Amino acid sequence: MDSSTTTSGLTFDIRLSSQRKTPQERAELLDSPGFGTVFTDHMVTIRYAEGKGWYDPRLEAYGPITLDPATAALHYAQEIFEGLKAYRHPDGSVATFRPDANAARFNRSARRMAMPELPEDLFLGAISTLLEHDSEWVPTQENSSLYLRPFMFATDVGLGVNNPSRSYLFVLIASPSGAYFSGGVRPVTVWLSEDYTRAAPGGTGEAKFAGNYAASFLAQAQAVEQGCDQVVWLDAVEHRWVEEMGGMNLFFVFGSGDSARVLTPALTGTLLPGITRDSLLKLIPELGFQVEEGRLSIDQWRSAAESGELTEVFACGTAAVITPVGHVKSSHGEYAIGDGSPGPMTMLLRDELVALQYGTRADTHGWVHRIG
Ligand SMILES: *Cc1c(COP(=O)(O)O)cnc(C)c1O
Repeated sequence: MDSSTTTSGLTFDIRLSSQRKTPQERAELLDSPGFGTVFTDHMVTIRYAEGKGWYDPRLEAYGPITLDPATAALHYAQEIFEGLKAYRHPDGSVATFRPDANAARFNRSARRMAMPELPEDLFLGAISTLLEHDSEWVPTQENSSLYLRPFMFATDVGLGVNNPSRSYLFVLIASPSGAYFSGGVRPVTVWLSEDYTRAAPGGTGEAKFAGNYAASFLAQAQAVEQGCDQVVWLDAVEHRWVEEMGGMNLFFVFGSGDSARVLTPALTGTLLPGITRDSLLKLIPELGFQVEEGRLSIDQWRSAAESGELTEVFACGTAAVITPVGHVKSSHGEYAIGDGSPGPMTMLLRDELVALQYGTRADTHGWVHRIG
């Protein structure tokens, strides 16, 4: 037993794995980790029961979880998640980026799915406990990081469909990830999905709810069939207002140089409120450009691209940071954004964000949380 952390009156029980990877095994795995397939030595689990609250927080060996076949999450999909990263800074230290925003969003998702909220200090305590013990898994190569995946699911056993579960399991796992796009930033071609919708008013689009992804795979497959990389979601009512791209938020740049203006779709309740999106809304004015939350139809998108008024489009999210959109395709045809290559605003914002996350730019926002 070594260190333990006390949060919300609870102490993390540290149960070190007896099968930790050797430094050499770890180095081999870290050499080309890909995304989401290699995991660190440990995970954190915390249990919840109605009437008792959160209990039994621990660090334990990463490994399978045994579930009764009648476990509620397997039938009625009460499951939410988060995604954030730990970055290696130039001085060798490890830091996360706005983890308190992930904690807050996790609880907004929990409320929507009738699940219990996890006190923010327990969410952050889980992250620091895991990183203290698995910090050697934070890669040192450029643009690589340790992806952190907190999630929570319903563990009641029984098929009763009328009530939310009364017990839950919170788990935090971590996966080293390489540069999301090997070979630099590559613009994507997007497919405007008019057959499927991601989220409807009053639905679950605002929550980081697992089922939103299950419902998106068919549209994503259709995008790939059309020779595209990603699907763009439109509003569920009129099928013409642009919402998001896959699991990322979208930004549109009008004009160029000093007079460039930036627009991102407003949070209507059907969009996922991205933390990268929120960070850009704060950074863009600081860099001297106008930014607004508004709306854009697919017709406006096309005519502004064709007139040249729309100069750049990019998507943003934790996993890939910022991805330029080069071409747009739908059942009505295809067009390019500018000359189809990444634009200057896209690259400027990407560099600014990456510099903050990797600690090569001074953090004036209090966004960087150092571990240990
Ligand atoms: C997670 C997610 C995003 C991006 O959120 P970040 O906090 O920036 O990573 C955008 N859209 C969807 C649907 C998502 O699930």
